[in-house]
Amino acid sequence: MTTPSIAVIGAGFSGTLLALHLLRRCPPHTRVTLIERNRRFGRGMAYSTGNPNHLLNVPAGRMSAFHDRPHDFLDWLQRQPEEELGGLQPNASSFAPRHLFGAYIRSLLNEEIRAPESRDRLVLVRGDVQAIDRSGHPIILHLDRGEAVEADLAVLAVGNFPPRPPPIADPSFYDSALYRPDPWAAEALADLDPASRVLLIGTGLTTVDMVVSLLDQGHTGPIHAVSRRGLLPRRHQAGPPAALAEPIPFPTGLMALTRTLRREAERAIEQGGTWQPVVDALRPFTQDVWQAMSLTDRARFLRHMRPWWDVHRHRMAGPVADRIDAARQSGQLQLHTGRIQGYALHDGMADVRYRPRGSDRMACLQAARVINCSGPDADYARIGDTLIRGLLLDGTVRPDALRLGLDVTGTCALLNASGAISRRLFAVGPVTKGTFWEMTAVPDIRRQCELLAQHLAALVGAPAVIAQPVSARPEAFTYMI
Ligand SMILES: Cc1cc2nc3c(=O)[nH]c(=O)nc-3n(C[C@H](O)[C@H](O)[C@H](O)COP(=O)(O)OP(=O)(O)OC[C@H]3O[C@@H](n4cnc5c(N)ncnc54)[C@H](O)[C@@H]3O)c2cc1C
Repeated sequence: MTTPSIAVIGAGFSGTLLALHLLRRCPPHTRVTLIERNRRFGRGMAYSTGNPNHLLNVPAGRMSAFHDRPHDFLDWLQRQPEEELGGLQPNASSFAPRHLFGAYIRSLLNEEIRAPESRDRLVLVRGDVQAIDRSGHPIILHLDRGEAVEADLAVLAVGNFPPRPPPIADPSFYDSALYRPDPWAAEALADLDPASRVLLIGTGLTTVDMVVSLLDQGHTGPIHAVSRRGLLPRRHQAGPPAALAEPIPFPTGLMALTRTLRREAERAIEQGGTWQPVVDALRPFTQDVWQAMSLTDRARFLRHMRPWWDVHRHRMAGPVADRIDAARQSGQLQLHTGRIQGYALHDGMADVRYRPRGSDRMACLQAARVINCSGPDADYARIGDTLIRGLLLDGTVRPDALRLGLDVTGTCALLNASGAISRRLFAVGPVTKGTFWEMTAVPDIRRQCELLAQHLAALVGAPAVIAQPVSARPEAFTYMI
């Protein structure tokens, strides 16, 4: 009997969870190889932070890795020794440190590694997949250091890429020592004079993390943050989930949908509630709405409304919002609205020129360090990553129409340059955003992993399962990220 094999490229949250589900659903002789270029499996970009004040923006009660065991993460937290929790009293509504969620995912992987039934079935490989040769069968993944992994099927779970710098006429500043391209790199805040002036590019959740890190390391100097609209994520508000007033169907035209949500939010506020549950009530339908919307409306949404959607949808945990509010009130944190136009270096400082929104005059900010916090780069057509570049160049994959990731079908199969559907290459996680839009937070990705594992298990010969589109709506109505 031949051994079916599935390789998963990337062991962040998406790849690790997919591997765990594959082990459960595939025939017992299937081999699952999980490949990660970094030292730490199971954490990825989001959950590698060592800072205990970088909190999850979803309450612990909703962060289980398994939708059919909704309290798994909370139960795990409650089993941890007190000293590991750093003062957290875990309950369903607490916002736990992100590193603890990374430890939870890693512990699930460890359990699987130790399970006798996983012996010879789960293989962890440390390496950087640089190319995929699909000219024969099996496909061959070429790794750095000349290694190779063979597999019948492969899944890209390559996740988020570091932010792209704002485009400017002379990009030489981006090679200078004052610029930090990756806010998650250890050196982003290293060797910084605590009294110095810092400029953060972006005003989203990454900027919020960086402000928290700066405050934690005793930074007293001014912190400036600039983005095109200057919008900060809103704060989570505890409250009962809202039922929409009229159970009317959700419109899928952009303007009509916007009007409906505004009307519902105003009504909720008039009745003494808050707008947050109205945004959350759309969650189970967001993927359906996105897929039903015309391409023109999706493009208009991205051009005009995305920043507004992002700050209302991806919100700050209360304790984090308190610190950000205090920093703004004291004047230490200042937000600016505009587009960066260029930089000049003098006397060890950067003059950052930007055009304030709605103005035809330039303004200038001085900073001793400029950190790019503009959020993960999703335009795969421009990403310099060796594997993705190669796959795009040889036409194995193509960017989706809106350049949010790679083009995939409803069952996560990758489409090639001419639109043909691969039967051997798949993708999972944020890379599939173009098709699903809502594929960022844990509740959505975990559902996608379960459904994709079921589909792949059928392809490698598990007893017949009818493949469901992985866009199948999430199981509950009260997501809060
Ligand atoms: C800072 C941040 C905070 C977040 N906070 C929350 C939150 O509180 N709650 C929530 O629900 N969601 C949150 N999210 C969203 C979500 O949980 C993540 O986006 C999710 O973890 C995505 O996981 P991933 O595995 O797809 O991607 P990643 O975490 O980016 O992992 C991809 C992995 O693939 C590896 N890789 C890439 N290419 C290769 C290659 N060629 N060869 C080998 N390995 C490769 C990378 O090294 C990486 O480890 C957050 C996201 C970010 C960025």
